[in-house]
Amino acid sequence: MSSAEGSSSEMQGWETVIGLEVHCELSTATKLFCSCPNAFGGEPNTNVCPTCLGLPGSLPVVNGQAVDFAMRLGRALNCTVQGSVFDRKNYFYPDMPKDFQTTQLAAPTNIDGSVQLPSGKVCRIDRAHIEEDTGKSSHVGGDGRIHDAQYSLVDYNRAGVPLVEIVGEPDLRSAEEARDYVSELRDILMAIEVSDAKMEEGSMRVDANVSVRPVGSDELRTRCEIKNVNSLRSLVRAIEYEAARHVDLYDNNDKPRQETRHWDEAGGRTRSGRSKEDSDDYRYFSEPDLPKFVVTDADIAAIDEALPRLPAQRRKVLLDAAGGSDKLAESAALAVERDLDGLALDAIAAGADGDRVLTHVANNLAVEGAENLAAALFADLVKMETGGELTATQAKQVLAEMVETGATPADIAAARGFEAMDNSELDSTLDGIIEANADAWAELVASDDKKDIKKKMGFFTGEVMKATKGQADGRAVNEALTARRNAAK
Ligand code: ADP
Ligand code: ZN
Ligand code: MG
Repeated sequence: MSSAEGSSSEMQGWETVIGLEVHCELSTATKLFCSCPNAFGGEPNTNVCPTCLGLPGSLPVVNGQAVDFAMRLGRALNCTVQGSVFDRKNYFYPDMPKDFQTTQLAAPTNIDGSVQLPSGKVCRIDRAHIEEDTGKSSHVGGDGRIHDAQYSLVDYNRAGVPLVEIVGEPDLRSAEEARDYVSELRDILMAIEVSDAKMEEGSMRVDANVSVRPVGSDELRTRCEIKNVNSLRSLVRAIEYEAARHVDLYDNNDKPRQETRHWDEAGGRTRSGRSKEDSDDYRYFSEPDLPKFVVTDADIAAIDEALPRLPAQRRKVLLDAAGGSDKLAESAALAVERDLDGLALDAIAAGADGDRVLTHVANNLAVEGAENLAAALFADLVKMETGGELTATQAKQVLAEMVETGATPADIAAARGFEAMDNSELDSTLDGIIEANADAWAELVASDDKKDIKKKMGFFTGEVMKATKGQADGRAVNEALTARRNAAK
């Protein structure tokens, strides 16, 4: 096929449809059905016992902490948390010593949830069920692939580690949206402290189901499931590659087959795995050795009570405090992502303008030490700026020094000799510049094209900045230019 990095011309007229299945390891002290430690790393086959090795006669006992964690996750994902049963999913694989995986099929712990992305989009969750992890096999020789290997090794330390599998509906429409979704899930998992959600260590694993359809259609076409994606960057690349591959097939009067494919990071492509012509017959049946779980309203209330404020709520609280305008949504999301929403909220509560606060947090506080900034001093700085004592450019410089030294904005401004220009000074500067560029000014006044006006305004702002060596306040200049243009029209 031709270049497959999802080039936009190739995707013209096509929409990508993605549904993710995300496995997260719960950070419980012990495994799901035995008392072996749940620990990453460690000498192979040291954290094992008869139960997680599936030896005859051993019986499972459910880890209460794992169930608590899973229910907490369910509520954080806005799910209905219900009474559940465990099922056996039967298949033979060397890393599954019992020859079945204990999972939940008919009555999963969590169903019908949702995740809200920073963009505001709500993505539906079908279910988030509990299951046990498998062991890990490694194939020695032959490039690590099973077919050409000389021999294989298996480590059961991971066998029986508790997982929640979050099955998302096919609501995602681009690789970037899929990335935002995974990153939001990771933030939620960390906020509620049920998983360390590290893609690199495999404690969060993402399988991406990808299909394409003509723009405007709502059909669900044949999907491929991509495995072996170990980072957000690979996720984006893998989805873009796969979507382009599907488009390429349709463009050539062919079509994709439903199959599992593996992401090849070095090759930058997906490769066909074993093809699944018919879906596997796992002969599921309910696990006879484990009891049915009952969940009461009081259980749910207790979980909800203990939930911390989640990223989506934090974004909303901050946005509301800052005045709620949609144009601040992105800055509010950045503030939460950087864990600076507490600082922003405190500064706003101390009387600083929400818009300026969020703008500084988004643009000027992506620096080390920003979290130590005193909210009261930050608020003072913003007040000096909105009060006209400092220009936006000066405020930015003062802020940088505040983060470094912890000094007050008044002291820093005085030491630097910052005084904002007063309006009469700005007026006379503008007079001179407009006179010197009379033709350009006439064109600006006459222009009706938004983009063109912006460009021409930029020229005049630049001239003012040059003339004042950056002392002028960009916003004041913009306001003055706009007022003069309106008057001249
Ligand atoms: P199954 O019943 O085979 O398990 P599901 O319908 O439950 O399949 O979907 C499994 C995963 O695949 C879900 O994450 C879902 O969002 C996703 N998915 C289903 N159909 C499509 C499609 N046409 N394109 C992309 N993803 C899809
Ligand atoms: Zn064990
Ligand atoms: Mg299904």
